[in-house]
Amino acid sequence: MTTTRFAPSPTGALHLGHAFSALFAAARGDRFLLRLEDIDTTRCRPEYAAWILEDLAWLGLRWEEPVRVQSAHAVEHRAALARLRPFLYPCFCTRADIAAAGGAPQGPSGPVYPGTCRDLSPAERERRIAAGTPHAWRLDMARALSHLPPLHFTDRARGCLRCDPLAHGDVVLARKDAGLSYHLCVVCDDAAQGVTLVTRGEDLLPATDIHRLLQTLLELPEPAYEHHPLLQGPDGKRLAKRDGAPALRDLRAAGMSAAEVKARLPGWG
Ligand code: GLU
Repeated sequence: MTTTRFAPSPTGALHLGHAFSALFAAARGDRFLLRLEDIDTTRCRPEYAAWILEDLAWLGLRWEEPVRVQSAHAVEHRAALARLRPFLYPCFCTRADIAAAGGAPQGPSGPVYPGTCRDLSPAERERRIAAGTPHAWRLDMARALSHLPPLHFTDRARGCLRCDPLAHGDVVLARKDAGLSYHLCVVCDDAAQGVTLVTRGEDLLPATDIHRLLQTLLELPEPAYEHHPLLQGPDGKRLAKRDGAPALRDLRAAGMSAAEVKARLPGWG
């Protein structure tokens, strides 16, 4: 019994790339679940969530209810963060501080944190927190990895891959504005929903290294993975709303049928 999911963030209308990703997930699951990853309160909007459900139903997709709304599970996410406490440290750096620390090498998921706050004394940390200095919580990657065997995951298209979480540096797991990171929420939610096969775009392949580490630290089950190629526009660039990828709802409004939309997707025509 394979359980898959589609986990869009309601930050705008779905386009052909999302349609491909959702159909890809549904085709691989005996059970197909839906999750709205709406923790970024600055970018997510309820009307976009409603559009997503409408578009997916129009494409002919059926998912098992209930839809998991990520923001409704903050208590579980916070509990997971608390379990990771021995490996976390508060980071008081602003973006400008990090830039000024200079030379932050580019990691697989962005600049690698130079580690400025890693070695602050407990007293200094307490002093800054007591003074109300905004802070994020970072995972001390080297410490977290120090007592673990090498980590791997199986990607159905690529085979067994070795993880390199250290290359990402000390990632943020909770932000200054109290939001929790995508990495933490996604591993908690995939486990809570009983997802056994995670399918998603290959842009998230590097993030899986971090997810396997978090799953191991939190003693969560290990799902299989299948990262699919990203759909490209006529310019050869990845389809993205900001570059004018047509929204499914606009194609629908223009009179296109779901079958015609699917015919434009590789493997579905
Ligand atoms: N919410 C993420 C996105 O829309 C997908 C996360 C995932 O599939 O793990 O890009």
